[in-house]
Amino acid sequence: MDIMALDHRYIAQTYNRFPLQITGGCGSLLQGADGKEYIDLGSGIAVNIFGINDTAWKEAVKTQLDKFQHCSNLYYNEPASVLAKLLCEKSKMQRVFFCNSGAEANECAIKAARKWAATHKGEEYYNIITLKKSFHGRTLATLSATGQEVYHKDYQPLVQGFLYAEVGNAQQLEELLQTHACAAIMYEAVQGEGGVMPIGQNYADAIQALADKYNVLTIADEVQLGNGRSGCFFGYMNYGLKPDLVSTAKSLGGGLPLGATLFGEKTANVFSHGDHGTTFGANPVCCAGGISILSRIDEKLLKGVRKRSAYIIRELSNAKGILSVSGMGLMLGLEIPQPARAFAQKLLEHGVLVTTAKDKIRLLPALNIPMEQLKQAVQSIKHCAAE
Ligand SMILES: *Cc1c(COP(=O)(O)O)cnc(C)c1O
Repeated sequence: MDIMALDHRYIAQTYNRFPLQITGGCGSLLQGADGKEYIDLGSGIAVNIFGINDTAWKEAVKTQLDKFQHCSNLYYNEPASVLAKLLCEKSKMQRVFFCNSGAEANECAIKAARKWAATHKGEEYYNIITLKKSFHGRTLATLSATGQEVYHKDYQPLVQGFLYAEVGNAQQLEELLQTHACAAIMYEAVQGEGGVMPIGQNYADAIQALADKYNVLTIADEVQLGNGRSGCFFGYMNYGLKPDLVSTAKSLGGGLPLGATLFGEKTANVFSHGDHGTTFGANPVCCAGGISILSRIDEKLLKGVRKRSAYIIRELSNAKGILSVSGMGLMLGLEIPQPARAFAQKLLEHGVLVTTAKDKIRLLPALNIPMEQLKQAVQSIKHCAAE
């Protein structure tokens, strides 16, 4: 069967896929239907943080599958409660709402911020300031929150109440807060899709100070960077930020769809019975996978993330054909003079899988990628960049 032809005929053509069909593999080594082996520096867009075919995760998922696969949110389920406790302990947040994706986790955070503001400040305080070049998802509210016009085109009218601030411009942020009735400021500590750009300590400090001054909430979108990838448990921790709402997803379920919104002290009780919900949220199989993932994000793993990150930065910062390396931990962007997509295709032909972000190459390897495989992939990148 020609799988690519079936895809082109029967699947909505929303993705510009690379010409490769994955059939299996182990850890950070993926097997292609072409019989070749690939070193994976994308981990399914920051999802498979312990690679594929991870034994402990599969064990956890199978054990839960043998009990029951779903019970609805009408009843209690052990994996959800245990995972919520783990998330709160690691983040010092108070409560968790489980959903199925990053966009939904952000939707929940946006709703929570609006309800908090409506309750504590007044109904007109519905505006949420997000950052230019941000990315928050593909639902109508989260694409409205996304500060990139390219995602807005063709989907008008957008959801009202989002304002976009220029990263690095604290004065403009304050002006927005002075001229609009706001509920929250929403940020990614490192903008992922927008070009792998950290917001920087100064701007992070300004967000926190202005949020306090104007009594608005802060929402950290940790969908891509969260759960260890930054070298801290959550990316905002690198800046010492104290968000009131945190969204996370991608890596949380270890490859099964799982998202979460975390509530801090101010927002812990913003929702009551009936205020929000989702059928598949807190799925016990996904949450069992999540427990396996989260329980392994410890200081030893984070140290390994920082070591691998330092290695990549050291090797590629001054490499021929690489203009700069940006990012944090194991979310790194390479600025190159060649078109990013063509470069990623060339790397694929050399047996290395990467993603792109705007005109950059984006590296999102598994947090436990063996050093030998990482070294081999980095050498391939150097080789292709120098050509
Ligand atoms: C991927 C991503 C999202 C959207 O997550 P989905 O699971 O695709 O809905 C939101 N925010 C950030 C920062 C992301 O990287």
